[in-house]
Amino acid sequence: MTTVSNAEYRGVWVFIEQVAGEPAPVSWELLGAGRQLADALGVELAGVLLGQGVAGLVSEAWAYGADRVYLVEDPVLGPYRTAPYARALVELVQRYRPEILLLGATSLGRDLSGAVATALGTGLTADCTGLNIDPATRLLEQTRPVFGGNVMATILCQRHRPQMATVRPRVMPLPPRQEGRQGELVRVGIALKEEEALATVLKVIEEKGKAIYLDRAEIIVAGGRGLGSRENLRLLEELAGVLGGTLGASRAAVEAGWLPPEYQVGQTGITVRPKVYFAIGISGAIQHLVGMQNSEVIVAINKDPEAPIFKVATYGIIGDFQEVVPALTEEFRRQLAARSA
Ligand SMILES: Cc1cc2nc3c(=O)[nH]c(=O)nc-3n(C[C@H](O)[C@H](O)[C@H](O)COP(=O)(O)OP(=O)(O)OC[C@H]3O[C@@H](n4cnc5c(N)ncnc54)[C@H](O)[C@@H]3O)c2cc1C
Repeated sequence: MTTVSNAEYRGVWVFIEQVAGEPAPVSWELLGAGRQLADALGVELAGVLLGQGVAGLVSEAWAYGADRVYLVEDPVLGPYRTAPYARALVELVQRYRPEILLLGATSLGRDLSGAVATALGTGLTADCTGLNIDPATRLLEQTRPVFGGNVMATILCQRHRPQMATVRPRVMPLPPRQEGRQGELVRVGIALKEEEALATVLKVIEEKGKAIYLDRAEIIVAGGRGLGSRENLRLLEELAGVLGGTLGASRAAVEAGWLPPEYQVGQTGITVRPKVYFAIGISGAIQHLVGMQNSEVIVAINKDPEAPIFKVATYGIIGDFQEVVPALTEEFRRQLAARSA
């Protein structure tokens, strides 16, 4: 076996995730983060696109900052399955040797990253909230919450390559899309066999019903334990209704059974980055803050002036939500009606 030194690994890669040709927006967010890392290292930024009939996404990857896209198209890579995707990605890494490989912390990305890191014998830092380059060592500093979110740890992968990290959707900002930006396309053939796929997709059944996409919402009206009861959610629903927003919840509100788990914002819930986030009756525990503190505007309503949520709030309203929320709803309703008149 030939040993490859770490110095022979060069470049930053981002896995461009797609399902049935639909790209996961986290891929573009990671190209934004990857661009900064690549510039700090003075290397190229590449996207890796695996699938069948997905070449249309190459120009999107260029537009979001990739200098180069490695494209592997093969019928075996049609529907996502761990074994062929992992095989293709491992082979690409072994052939082209990137020093950094980033994936979205989606269900697909979590599955794939673990399989790839294991096969390559390298480290993987999951759910990073910060990525930087140490200029002295050129190592990737991978920051993430640990010990229940009470401590932020910066993790290094010193001995093995590539340095692999996953980042949740909406943790990194979406970079501006540069229409018409061109890059290089490298089509790679990898001999994949259907019988090595280990699983067969018989049928894809789309989930019906009201799927909520909290991570894409522009306005979130979130409630916590301070609401006191499920009935009081009605006030938040009215506010959300007037503003065209989506409800959200702290873990305490979810555990009380007031809203289902898919509404939970925070470390063990969804990470969000809306234009406006209302935190109502939410104290601002660190595990909640890590999921919403990158919102553009944060409006906190809490009767305790010492509540930590006020430290991250753009606007803080000290008071009982039962008085404040209906007053806000009424005022927004009035302003919006005046504007449309
Ligand atoms: C490993 C781990 C992971 C976790 N993950 C998450 C997570 O993903 N998301 C999450 O949210 N939490 C998470 N938690 C829990 C977190 O630590 C907190 O317990 C939780 O966020 C508290 O929820 P809360 O703010 O709704 O409740 P509380 O902390 O009880 O706060 C209620 C607030 O309501 C205010 N209030 C009360 N009455 C009124 C009123 N009438 N009007 C206005 N304000 C009022 C109070 O002053 C108080 O500030 C996690 C914890 C651990 C250990």
